[in-house]
Amino acid sequence: MNHATGYDRIRPLTVEFAKRLHAWLNKMTSREVSLADHESIPQLVHRLFQDARNERATDIHIDAEDGTLCIRLRIDGVLRDVALIPARHNAQFLGHIKALVDLDPTPLLRPASGGTLYELDEVNVNLRVTCTPTIRGEKMSVRLLDPRRVQYTLEELGLNHEQKEKIDRWLESMAGMVLVAGATGSGKTTSLYALLHQLKSLDCSVITIEDPVEYRVDGINQIQVHEARGITFSEAVRAMLRLDPDFLMVGEMRDRASAEAALAASSTGRVLLSSLHSRDAAGTVTTLRNLDIQDYEITAALELVISQRLVRRLCPDCKREGPAPAEDRGWLEALGVTAPTTSWVASGCNNCRHTGYHRRIGVFEIWYVDEEANGLIRRHSDEKSLRHAIRESGTKSLLEDGMDKAAAGVTSLAELRRVGSYGFGISHR
Ligand SMILES: [Zn+2]
Repeated sequence: MNHATGYDRIRPLTVEFAKRLHAWLNKMTSREVSLADHESIPQLVHRLFQDARNERATDIHIDAEDGTLCIRLRIDGVLRDVALIPARHNAQFLGHIKALVDLDPTPLLRPASGGTLYELDEVNVNLRVTCTPTIRGEKMSVRLLDPRRVQYTLEELGLNHEQKEKIDRWLESMAGMVLVAGATGSGKTTSLYALLHQLKSLDCSVITIEDPVEYRVDGINQIQVHEARGITFSEAVRAMLRLDPDFLMVGEMRDRASAEAALAASSTGRVLLSSLHSRDAAGTVTTLRNLDIQDYEITAALELVISQRLVRRLCPDCKREGPAPAEDRGWLEALGVTAPTTSWVASGCNNCRHTGYHRRIGVFEIWYVDEEANGLIRRHSDEKSLRHAIRESGTKSLLEDGMDKAAAGVTSLAELRRVGSYGFGISHR
């Protein structure tokens, strides 16, 4: 049955779930009992969720693949195969997960999603399930929103001394708007919550508007946007202001409505935190302009931009320093960056499941918006000129911060190359 479970394919990642699935399928086959056994499917799904959480997975992908159901976990940003389930059990396996989030357990004709709080080892984890019919069968992804992920302090995110000082400087003045910028999955939410935790410790009243509320946090008032019930972004902002908070957080500026609501809140003199999608610090101005925010509104509100990406940390147990690999040097030189002669690599051990990496860390570009930058924005200068001015002012780029972390052995040049020039917001134009 090795073939049926795909156990050989997943040996580097010895997940308990896969081992159990393997043993269980063997048992089932020998007894000629089908997987439809009522006790078994819920137990197996529970075990999968538990393992995924223990392995720090952010997502579980379940894909129909030529007669099998392939299960993958996204760990530290990288998808890894975990197990294959014979196709005849697809419907029961997916059906059970769909039923957990109140979706119709039969195969769907159109994409659908649902969510629920699910208890795993005495912690309520928010599960978000998305199902899409494909030509090869149903594809499901389960996002695990583990509250542990938003319990970090600013110190733990990976900011260097100089970057932390810029944030501390803002925390002393506490004015205007702070934006956390990055791509999807770049750790924006973790950073926003690290800031919120810091503000909460100052005995301030903090209110958030989120769509949806992904993580529940004690001591913070969280409002969920609910268009169908008339709780729009602007409605929620009005309600929020009546509650007289010191700080507001708008989860994400993703469209004109949320951006306008955020700016309106900020114009009342409240401190505003939010996140948006952007390639780097200078790119946030372009994103705001694309959301129809005027240059004068940007300069009036914008104080600090925390632009970020996540890179995998080298495993502390098996990393060592050696000559920098030629392909990594070549990649850096093609970007016009002086490549170091030595770098760190990790060969893999039991601690890192033989991947060479364990956990992730942020790389940052922290831009304190100064008068010169405000002048450029007011004159409607383009993103390139703004980026140039940010570099001239001594703010390190995402890649430069990544290079510092590689030199210190925190991550590897190969990992920077994996994230890629696009990931670091570098344009080839
Ligand atoms: Zn290791």
